[in-house]
Amino acid sequence: MSTQEQASAGAEGPATTIATAPKAEQKPVIDPATGETIAWVDELGAEAAARAAARGRAVQPAWEALGFEGRARVMRRAQKWVTEHSDELVATIVSETGKAWEDAQMAEVMYAAAAFGHWADHAEGLLADEKIKVSSPLLKGKKVITRHAPVGLVGVIAPWNYPFTNGFGDCIPALMAGNSVLLKPAEKTPLTSLLMARALKECGLPDGVMQVLTGRGSVLGEAILDVVDMIMFTGSTAVGRRIGARAGERLIPCSLELGGKDAFIVCADADLERAANHALFYGMFNTGQTCISVERVYVEAPVYDEFVAKVAKKAKALRNERPTGPGATEVGALTIESQVATVTEHVEDARRKGATIVAGGDPDPNRKGWWYPPTVLTDVDHSMECMTEETFGPTLPIMKVADTEEAIRLANDSPYGLMASVFTKDIAKGEQIARRIEAGSVHVNDALIGYTALEAPMGGWKDSGLGARHGAAGIRKYARAQTIVISKYHLKKEPQVYPYNGRSFRLLGRVARFFYGRGTRD
Ligand code: NAD
Repeated sequence: MSTQEQASAGAEGPATTIATAPKAEQKPVIDPATGETIAWVDELGAEAAARAAARGRAVQPAWEALGFEGRARVMRRAQKWVTEHSDELVATIVSETGKAWEDAQMAEVMYAAAAFGHWADHAEGLLADEKIKVSSPLLKGKKVITRHAPVGLVGVIAPWNYPFTNGFGDCIPALMAGNSVLLKPAEKTPLTSLLMARALKECGLPDGVMQVLTGRGSVLGEAILDVVDMIMFTGSTAVGRRIGARAGERLIPCSLELGGKDAFIVCADADLERAANHALFYGMFNTGQTCISVERVYVEAPVYDEFVAKVAKKAKALRNERPTGPGATEVGALTIESQVATVTEHVEDARRKGATIVAGGDPDPNRKGWWYPPTVLTDVDHSMECMTEETFGPTLPIMKVADTEEAIRLANDSPYGLMASVFTKDIAKGEQIARRIEAGSVHVNDALIGYTALEAPMGGWKDSGLGARHGAAGIRKYARAQTIVISKYHLKKEPQVYPYNGRSFRLLGRVARFFYGRGTRD
């Protein structure tokens, strides 16, 4: 293929070269399924971040002035673009992540189409001025309004596991709130964001409102943090802590979507066939590289053997082939090379400590690209890394527990608290268990799919994050609340103002007793 300038995310944005020969200051993008270089992208630094910030700030007022309907028109065109170009979008995502086509279709393209429409339809309702009913006697007769003004320039820093959903997806509510956005995709997966930036331009997004900058986290990521008014970060807990600390120093708001170690509880009265299908599917989906993957399973003793047998049989039937098109494989490649080492370490640590591998477990060392077969482990416990640390790979460790009390205790025995699942035919019991689990979302007889509820907040407890994406919180975080108090009809001199002559003191005391004197002592 001849060298070709394939993409530019704006006049001064990064370039992508689909070629074998890079320009200076470019880094390769590698297809994880083959290990081959498929593109080169610019490696930008602090100067580019500062230039992009100035540009974003310059165009933001006009974007805000378009109003919700004007901005929604661009998003609705983008929604249509996604549905009309879904194969191109899937192929781009698969080329840089190595995931199965079906994984990309369900969790990225469907998400993209839904998210553009959702925020176009709901941003105005969630951010419209609110007339506030107030109870303070000092405000009688006054009008109180809260408005949600855009923060200005939002920085979005994204991981590599879902190049659209966990990166570009977060830009949509930020844009609908009237902000300009700087997006830094992960180093390994920039192509989807560059494609979508071109798509939004085609759909009428004014130049400079959304800029994709490619480069390293430690250089470009830190530089973006220093020039934006709000930071939306998705990635590891370790980096998230640094981002939170820097945001604290700069006193800018941050929203952090971090790691997880999601527990899956199977009660003795569960529908075992459904539980086995769900544990396996949501454990292996996206090659296990989902922050809300099923990472560990606890099964009540009476049904443990039957559950394990079902999961092992189903796991052995999974194909782990190159994702060449729809239907080519169930489980794709790992997206980054270091994940092969992490998964291998967790499986070998468990094996050394007495775990049994009932499916998978032995990767082919000669295979090109980054691969690890779908692997099911039993005889596991909390002395093993596979049960306590985020694996982020195609592994499913299954632990036997005496009862649901032990399962709940072990599920909560983690620094993480992102998502969890409980399977039981007794719905009331399932809901009670859900309420005792320390996680931002919990499913009863399901897993992971709650992420598609764009109307409900999704965020982590404990070390899994701060804030939420989706729901009202998922867009209000991109705005600054401003309360406006309007006094139209009033006295020339209100009783509380100077001079203090003892009358105002007594009057305010009577007012307090009248309005608040009805509380009880017990
Ligand atoms: P990572 O933390 O290594 O990197 C995430 C992003 O941060 C990348 O773009 C990277 O370049 C950038 N970065 C790295 N160092 C930085 C720094 N010092 N300053 C600014 N930016 C910096 O995470 P990853 O390996 O890309 O992603 C995997 C992790 O993300 C997993 O832990 C996973 O659970 C988590 N994740 C969480 C969610 C969620 O919604 N909670 C979703 C997806 C992934």
